[in-house]
Amino acid sequence: MISCSGKSVLKGIAIGKVYLFKKQEYVLKQEKISDAEAEISRFEEAKKKAVVQLDALYEKALKEAGEEQAMIFDVHKMMIEDQDYLDSIRNMIKEESVNAEYAVHVTGENFAAVFASMDDEYMKARSADVLDISKRIVNNLAGIVDGGIDSEEPVILLADDLSPSETVAIDKSKILAFVTKNGSANSHTAILARSMNIPSLVKTDVELKDEYTGMTGIVNGIDGTFYLDPDEATLEDMKNRKEAWEKERAALQELIGKDNVTTDGRRINVYANIGSVEDVEKVLKNDAGGIGLFRSEFIYLGRDTYPTEEEQFEIYKEVVSRMGGKKVIIRTLDIGADKQADYFGIPKEENPAMGFRAIRICLSRVDVFKTQLRAIYRASAFGTVSIMFPMIISVSEIRRIKEIVEEVKTELASEEKEFGNVELGIMVETPAAVMISEELAKEVEFFSIGTNDLTQYTLAIDRQNQSLDNIYDSHHPAVLRMIQMTIENGHKGGAWVGICGELGSDTTLTKTFIDMGIDELSVSPTYVLGLRKTIREI
Ligand code: PEP
Ligand code: MG
Repeated sequence: MISCSGKSVLKGIAIGKVYLFKKQEYVLKQEKISDAEAEISRFEEAKKKAVVQLDALYEKALKEAGEEQAMIFDVHKMMIEDQDYLDSIRNMIKEESVNAEYAVHVTGENFAAVFASMDDEYMKARSADVLDISKRIVNNLAGIVDGGIDSEEPVILLADDLSPSETVAIDKSKILAFVTKNGSANSHTAILARSMNIPSLVKTDVELKDEYTGMTGIVNGIDGTFYLDPDEATLEDMKNRKEAWEKERAALQELIGKDNVTTDGRRINVYANIGSVEDVEKVLKNDAGGIGLFRSEFIYLGRDTYPTEEEQFEIYKEVVSRMGGKKVIIRTLDIGADKQADYFGIPKEENPAMGFRAIRICLSRVDVFKTQLRAIYRASAFGTVSIMFPMIISVSEIRRIKEIVEEVKTELASEEKEFGNVELGIMVETPAAVMISEELAKEVEFFSIGTNDLTQYTLAIDRQNQSLDNIYDSHHPAVLRMIQMTIENGHKGGAWVGICGELGSDTTLTKTFIDMGIDELSVSPTYVLGLRKTIREI
């Protein structure tokens, strides 16, 4: 048995098979091959595998999203059988003696360029599809597994570190727990693990060996221990603790349907944070009053092109409809820093956390911003929607945002597209926003305090820097005073104030926040009932 310690990002115990996750990046190489026939059969095998994958994706999308969404995989299947495409790849391997990966990649690029230059909008859009199918074949050739996990049963995923895009791309139904050797407890990957309700450890002193795949592992997120190949006694003990933990969690179920009200009658909204449509089920199961933060940028991660208005509309509409009239606060795109998508073409920055991110990108790429706003406004016709804007530092930003919002509403109205009444708010997550919160409150209907970034920027500590985790202290008096000032100024200006950063779920501070006058706390779905219990005991 090997036992290692790590930093827990979510309590809970998971027992299952371990799977070593490898970075899913293939670096394209052009290689000279000597046996063209063998290389062509490698290609044929990879293509056959792609067809099987596309069939499975079609069935999955049909079940989860409907026929219209599933059709795309049928189109991909047709494209993969296109004679010109196939001949081009086979000829290139034969005539230029290059490896199959290279031939598929180059053919994909050439065909995509042809599609992109066409006048017809439908044909133009096929450019991304041909790139997608080519990437699928190249990945199959390189042995890269779709979703990263080649296992039938759910596993404990062991990795060096995981980026938010990698975490988003992983098939969640296959994960029991995450254990990473590196990574920070304040990173978005940790936040994602929490919202997925998956026990996880970061900064674990574990080795990453291929032979660990398939071994039994135990993740104890309660005390931050990871056991590999446990002995009988440990396994038995952990099974008992798991049962006890699950009983404790089950006891919280009796709070479903109860108010979040203190013994002296203060009522607080307890909402939940989500990153995807799949998280809505957990929000409802845990009886949150609404969604206080939908991190919409996760829609943009783990893909090669911008999500279209229609794609986004379907996602927002589904979230809003499933919430059945309960409020859904959608945060506009907060990309940049650790959340990177290559197709945005953001130049490499020395200091990305203080760089081109969030609202700064949206205000300089108004077309991208407008596409998202149109999709959100259209979804607002199906329930109760609020929008909030991340990384605000000035009044002028909000005025500009409001101009753009008005343009979007006018355009939608002229197209006779329906939309509802949408409340507008901002994230208060920079010291600048705190210091001018009195002025900002006059411009918007609500504030949501992002304590993760507010801690980072107040203390000048990169939240991604794992070696500073021990001094990244959200309880620092400077952070708490920032929160207090924001609440006071928000109320003075007529805005309600919530917290959607991770600190909102820290029950040692719940009474402090209530004393400060907080109106709403938005936390990972898994923390909703525990927070309700704390509030009811105050
Ligand atoms: C925050 O900064 O506290 C926040 C909620 O946003 P994110 O963690 O996504 O940056
Ligand atoms: Mg933030």
